[in-house]
Amino acid sequence: MGWRIAVYGGTFDPLHEGHLQVAEAILDAFALDRLLLVPAAVPPHKRRQAISSPYHRMAMLALATADRPRIFISTIELESPARPYTIETMGKLQAIYPDGQLLFVMGGDSFRDVTTWREYQRILTEYDVIVATRPGYPTAATEEEEGMAGMAGHLAPELRSRVVNLLGGRRPSPEQLADRHIFLTDYVAVDVSATDVRQAAATGRSLSGMVPPAIAEYIAKYQLYRSLL
Ligand code: ATP
Repeated sequence: MGWRIAVYGGTFDPLHEGHLQVAEAILDAFALDRLLLVPAAVPPHKRRQAISSPYHRMAMLALATADRPRIFISTIELESPARPYTIETMGKLQAIYPDGQLLFVMGGDSFRDVTTWREYQRILTEYDVIVATRPGYPTAATEEEEGMAGMAGHLAPELRSRVVNLLGGRRPSPEQLADRHIFLTDYVAVDVSATDVRQAAATGRSLSGMVPPAIAEYIAKYQLYRSLL
């Protein structure tokens, strides 16, 4: 069997501890060979003004992942002139790794909105999906059915039937991994967003604990996010 590769897309403006801790936890729990961070060129779901240049976002990704052997950066979206949608990016990555099992990673907030994504049914059926709960977004219920209703209640029954509830820190079984599923996970709970980081930087607060030290230094050195307020 080919490699098992997670694909974690985002704006990463900047990459923060929430992303990194989710990435490391998923690498372990799903016994992945690689996790690809895929910075978005112009994110189709976010219309926020003044996203940092891709060069700055890329530099911060590189700084934070240089010493993490299984985390790679894919520039596939940055290099694409046509603002690719996730389903297109997944198709391109599958062509690059024809024998690979691709698992798309998204936070609970993204999963809640996934029905607005282009061809989301294909994303949810042609690939594995790993949903990482995010503090402040629907709950990690202890009861199996509650968990599914809370996090996957917006999906049609045929999609909901693909959900595997791993809430409570459970790992997928080899049988579950052998088939395509939507995995609900709660391995880590890091209450940080890139918005929090940008606001802290804009108001001169410490970024300690929110981003790795190298990213905090980079943000200070290049005075990123200064003009937000
Ligand atoms: P912003 O605050 O600018 O909206 P963000 O912190 O949500 O940014 P993105 O780069 O937009 O970061 O997120 C990329 C992916 O990471 C999304 O799927 C998002 O749900 C997920 N994610 C971001 N922060 C966390 C977190 N703290 N825990 C779990 N998932 C997260």
